[in-house]
Amino acid sequence: MLSTMQDDQLSLAHLLQYGARMHGDTEVATWTGSGSRRTTFGQVAKRAAQLAHALRELGVTDDQRVGTFMWNNAEHLECYLAVPAMGAVLHTLNIRLFPEQLTYVANHAEDHVVVVDGSLLPLFAKQLPEMKTVRHVIVANGDAAALEAPSGVTVHSYEELLAGRPETFDWPEIDERSAAAMCYTSGTTGDPKGVVYSHRSIWLHSMQICMTDMMRLTDSDRALVIVPMFHAMSWGMPYAAFMIGTSMVLPDRFLQPAPIAEILAAEKPTFAGAVPTIWQGLLQHLDANPQDISHLREVVVGGSAAPPAMMHAFEERYNVSVLHAWGMTETSPMGSVARPPSGATGEEAWRYRYTQGRFPALVKARLVDDEGNEVPWDGKSVGELEVKGPWITGSYYGGADPDKFHDGWLRTGDVGRITPDGYLTLTDRAKDVIKSGGEWISSVDLENAVMGHPAVAEAAVIGVPDEKWGERPLVAVVVREGEQVTAEELREFLRDKVAKWQLPENWTFVSEVPKTSVGKFDKKRLRAAHAEGKLDVAHL
Ligand code: ADP
Repeated sequence: MLSTMQDDQLSLAHLLQYGARMHGDTEVATWTGSGSRRTTFGQVAKRAAQLAHALRELGVTDDQRVGTFMWNNAEHLECYLAVPAMGAVLHTLNIRLFPEQLTYVANHAEDHVVVVDGSLLPLFAKQLPEMKTVRHVIVANGDAAALEAPSGVTVHSYEELLAGRPETFDWPEIDERSAAAMCYTSGTTGDPKGVVYSHRSIWLHSMQICMTDMMRLTDSDRALVIVPMFHAMSWGMPYAAFMIGTSMVLPDRFLQPAPIAEILAAEKPTFAGAVPTIWQGLLQHLDANPQDISHLREVVVGGSAAPPAMMHAFEERYNVSVLHAWGMTETSPMGSVARPPSGATGEEAWRYRYTQGRFPALVKARLVDDEGNEVPWDGKSVGELEVKGPWITGSYYGGADPDKFHDGWLRTGDVGRITPDGYLTLTDRAKDVIKSGGEWISSVDLENAVMGHPAVAEAAVIGVPDEKWGERPLVAVVVREGEQVTAEELREFLRDKVAKWQLPENWTFVSEVPKTSVGKFDKKRLRAAHAEGKLDVAHL
């Protein structure tokens, strides 16, 4: 028998209208380099309507793709709302992709229009002639005349295009399963692949991340959204904030530690989200230039493993709680969050907080061994994590890489263990695992242990070929400015932290660890540098 419940569709047009009505005065601050320019949810919604009218006039109909090549700012938020609400598909282009990857994704998604920030025009202009389907470029926060368009492409000014248009729009009825936005993976492990989010998946994800087991966003929060809006939808924060009435602070292009510290001082956010490299950089900056940041009730860290030493430093030196989360572009992206169960205190609570976290109600998870069999959640058995749920992709746009799916589950490529009470600990990416003498060595555990040394800013571990053991770990270390440390000292430091046979004998000191477009350690490049003999390796 069917239920008697209404089949009301979860659409982003409703999210836009709801946020504008219920939280119309909630502020959106965009950093300008010296102070913020300010607007409100109400204003953003009106301008989103104007943008929708303009896009219709440019011929955007149905599910055409509208790309954005932008920093985190109010105009990007307007695109986030207007494009899906009008029934088209928002495609956030990652401004840090390699040029060939960028044109590949714009062509693959068949972007019809691209909205570009003025400060990114020089970068964008070089790629535009290769973008075969783009017919209109809209320049926000800059001079449209500065862009020389290839034939067949018209350039517009964002402000001129919006000016004088109606501030309401007859938003269409949209099937909640239809595409709202798309984002390509950052290509750490191959060609970027398109993930397409639906209205429904964005709604459910937004609701879940506000819940008490995840980010706990409320209308008294002020969220500093550092994770780029072109990277995994800014972890869903913009939509969740619009739904719940969390005011937003958007850093625009000011992502270095010094301006982030200035934004913190000026805007006093209560919440922030960024990858570990941003927090590591900020920590070093704050240690040299102390400032009170205790207005931050919590910061969420994910995208790669949060080093425990960094979590302790924020908590103990700055009175800021660090919340560790795991996710992927493919998982919208929030997959798990490391809140300890109630009742856990002291060291026990910390042990929970180091993990990648517990899955929320709508994310199903399992661990699978090399033969495809499930392994138990006993906190010891290791397997590849597979997940399933309403905001987890079931395929890639265009059908790429079917091997990433297994009986309807997404194979994450992440390897780890899960405790009986559902806390995930990742030890590696499948492609990064180190097998020494038949035993696994966790590169993440080693990295965390080395980063616990006060003279170490960053450490990345890769497996390198070894005649006797098959593979052994090589540690690439970045020393903190003004500090000194030797490989022997670091190895000694690890002696009571890892098993004896795991103690690395291969060490290299580098000025920085190569990073991917979204700031993760790029182990592919580190391995290539090692294979080409470009690293100066000490063998102890
Ligand atoms: P890409 O796969 O191109 O790097 P994503 O940003 O989607 O792009 O990355 C998802 C991956 O990032 C995960 O599969 C996992 O390997 C890694 N990751 C995300 N969060 C964490 C975390 N908290 N700890 C360890 N690894 C993480």
